Amino acid sequence: MPDCIVVGGGVIGMLTARALYKAGMDVMLLERAALGGESSWAGGGIISPLYAWNYADAVNRLAERSKQLYPLLVAELLDETGIDSELLHSGLFVLNNTPVETILTWGQHWGVEIQKIEQRSQVSRIEPATASNVTHGLWLPAIMQIRNPRLVKALKGSFEHLGIACKEHTPVAEILTENNKITGVRSENESFFADKVVLASGAWTAQFGTATREISVQPVKGQMIMFHGEPGLLKTMVLAEGHYVIPRKDGHILAGSTLEKADFDKTVSVSAMTELHQAAVSLVPMLADLPVERQWAGLRPGTEQGIPYICPHPQIEGLFIHAGHYRNGIVLGAASAELMAAVVLEQNTRMDASAYQMNAEH
Ligand SMILES: Cc1cc2nc3c(=O)[nH]c(=O)nc-3n(C[C@H](O)[C@H](O)[C@H](O)COP(=O)(O)OP(=O)(O)OC[C@H]3O[C@@H](n4cnc5c(N)ncnc54)[C@H](O)[C@@H]3O)c2cc1C
Repeated sequence: MPDCIVVGGGVIGMLTARALYKAGMDVMLLERAALGGESSWAGGGIISPLYAWNYADAVNRLAERSKQLYPLLVAELLDETGIDSELLHSGLFVLNNTPVETILTWGQHWGVEIQKIEQRSQVSRIEPATASNVTHGLWLPAIMQIRNPRLVKALKGSFEHLGIACKEHTPVAEILTENNKITGVRSENESFFADKVVLASGAWTAQFGTATREISVQPVKGQMIMFHGEPGLLKTMVLAEGHYVIPRKDGHILAGSTLEKADFDKTVSVSAMTELHQAAVSLVPMLADLPVERQWAGLRPGTEQGIPYICPHPQIEGLFIHAGHYRNGIVLGAASAELMAAVVLEQNTRMDASAYQMNAEH
């Protein structure tokens, strides 16, 4: 019998299971389908919240800690698996921003370098591919990106390398309790027993009956498109009016993303293709000449303010919730898993965990 079962094999579940395993726990992860096939695969991999200055400190604290953790994590995964998650210092160029002072104050507070750009010559030095009418912006050179499909592949490889128990294609149907204490979980045809269970099931986390009734996580659909380009056509990530482009190392360029309330529907639409294509071309005109190779959708685990649950369940002993990372599960993931592991292990946490409780007031 494992010490702990983690339900859900997205980036949050995998990082949590790995952190618990590394801390000496016997862990088993159960995933309904294939590891890392949902939102964690579908995301953009920007290692910063989009418009981070609009988020609560609880989100920024995790983001800044994650930024410290990612280089080491990626190096460890490369060492264990030979898979490079492509953590790149692409930098983020923010255009059409209005509250410049708010952003600069945020940068000062969190120690994030921000350069105010006020001339086309400066714009051209940073990202010559931007539209010629772009003359102003804010340049955040230290913002990284990670190739999230590679990250989940590397995490899967790490499980194999370290020998972390994991069952794919095993949907958990029920949480098992006795006298308000966790005893395990039940899948369609098998029960798994443990004294501790972590729910890390992304957008599906509120679907485990009465125990999860008070968890407020809803799916928020996001569509993306990917252009087929050559390496070096675009150097930096560019963000304006909620739309962004992300250059991958091999020349692919991602453009995202929509925000849609569509329950658990993941179909892609022509209207989203048009919206994303137009927005991307207005930022970077040469994209009009590149073919779109792919379009997809993922379901973000949405919470009201994007603050995730990283907490014990208030009524069921041994049950923990680790979900609701909304638009920022990749960037927050490393620090969030570190914090969740400390909570599960009843260790001192390096940051105040009170903001991530089920009944936290924000
Ligand atoms: C278009 C888009 C762009 C994004 N861009 C970024 C970005 O640039 N930066 C960033 O930080 N974040 C980004 N995100 C958000 C990020 O992808 C998510 O916050 C993150 O992936 C959530 O991880 P997760 O592990 O909680 O969820 P998921 O990856 O969805 O994983 C949950 C897992 O639980 C499994 N599961 C569900 N129910 C059960 C069950 N009953 N039994 C067993 N398993 C179950 C699912 O199959 C799934 O594999 C983006 C998301 C989208 C959709």
